Amino acid sequence: AKTIAVLTSGGDAPGMNAAVRAVVRSAISFGMNVYGVMRGYNGLLNGDVKEMNMRSVSDIMQHGGTALFTARSPEFNTPEGVKKAADFCREKGIEGVVVVGGDGSFRGARDLCGAGISCIGVPGTIDNDIACTDYTIGYDTALNTAMEMIDRIRDTTESHDRCSVVEVMGRRCGDIALNTGIAVGAMATLVPEVPYDFERDIVERMKAAQRTGKRHYIIVVAEGVGHTQELTERIQAATGIESRATVLGHVQRGGSPTLRDRVVASRMGYHAVELLNNGASNRVVAMKGEQIVDFDITEALNMPRIFDENLYRVSARLSI
Ligand code: ADP
Repeated sequence: AKTIAVLTSGGDAPGMNAAVRAVVRSAISFGMNVYGVMRGYNGLLNGDVKEMNMRSVSDIMQHGGTALFTARSPEFNTPEGVKKAADFCREKGIEGVVVVGGDGSFRGARDLCGAGISCIGVPGTIDNDIACTDYTIGYDTALNTAMEMIDRIRDTTESHDRCSVVEVMGRRCGDIALNTGIAVGAMATLVPEVPYDFERDIVERMKAAQRTGKRHYIIVVAEGVGHTQELTERIQAATGIESRATVLGHVQRGGSPTLRDRVVASRMGYHAVELLNNGASNRVVAMKGEQIVDFDITEALNMPRIFDENLYRVSARLSI
């Protein structure tokens, strides 16, 4: 029987467990043997793998984080490291590896393919920053967490007639900011994809809103824009409205995955194993619309990320 392995790598995301569970259960159903690799690529370098059975993945789907743990592996990110990992796979009879992670992890998977091990990438990151796919595992949970947290901040912002500037995650991608900004009715949303003008887009808008009777303000800032504390101080100085900064941080990475994350992760995990079962290699699983599809890893890594400018315009019109 064919032997494969599954690992989670890079930043963790809620729903990774559902993907691992789907890989393990699908592999067994196709008659394969399957190993779980601990702590990302590190597990292939130090032999930290365990043979999985149907029960190895019981009761993990509803939990955030990753039961296989994750890591960033500087050693793997060298030609010697990749060769060592590939040699370990050959020694164990591992012919294929499913890598759940982000762009960095896919570059690693591409290199491991180059060293003779079939790899399939599955997009797992809360940031939704992978160009080839409309959706990444963990994104929906992070959006809902950010929305809930900002709703709470709004309560106190409202009581005190304040302005709250809230920084959400996303690395260089503004998707979390854009969507939570719409969902919480933010007065302004700043994303790295669209340059903003402090006077026109913040101060003038706040003053115009104030004239219509608005007394509290939520501004959502993407991590990729940054300088949230400094921006908050400038807003207070320019408007005289008491302003507070909140950086939501890692709270967005945790928690029980939403239904959407569990279902998409399950479908993507299954698709990855189906690809390996059909002899495919060097592919990334992706979502286009509601369909699960796949692309060549190198092509996927070279695709430009497209920001939803139209949704941004809608958001700007609704927020005032
Ligand atoms: P993510 O997968 O979330 O983007 P990282 O960028 O931290 O996270 O990548 C995770 C791991 O993938 C790294 O620790 C490294 O072992 C491997 N990796 C990252 N970038 C590369 C690269 N350019 N080439 C080969 N391996 C890489």
